[in-house]
Amino acid sequence: MNHESPKKGVQFECQGSGKCCTSRGTHGYVYLTLKDRRRLAKFFNILTARFTREYCKKVGGWFVLDESKGDCRFLKGKRCSVYEGRPIQCRTWPFWPEHMSPRAWRREVAVFCPGVGKGRLYSPEEIARLVKETKDIFR
Ligand code: SF4
Repeated sequence: MNHESPKKGVQFECQGSGKCCTSRGTHGYVYLTLKDRRRLAKFFNILTARFTREYCKKVGGWFVLDESKGDCRFLKGKRCSVYEGRPIQCRTWPFWPEHMSPRAWRREVAVFCPGVGKGRLYSPEEIARLVKETKDIFR
């Protein structure tokens, strides 16, 4: 088990705490690619244009979920109410580029996410793939 560096492989399994879905300073936005908006529109059985109009806003040129109260609007209790349709950044948590230094991993992930240290081991290669997938959101 390794809590210290995601670069050496990490055990992780979501424990359903919902903590990664709440606003925490810079982690306040859920960014949405076109693929995410299409997937979520399909989840709600509406057109992508309607989903974008009703659920999104633009920040710095990127689409994000419109969250008037700070936490994700799809978080119900501790559960994601759109789990099957959730965006890429939710699928790749906690393997985000900004978490890859041991310090950031400790401060931004390990201290509050109960999934760290549980479940199966993610290899460095797998983590690198997830980090890249997260980076690609902003291409
Ligand atoms: S879409 Fe679901 S997994 Fe993503 S932040 Fe919202 S509640 Fe959490």
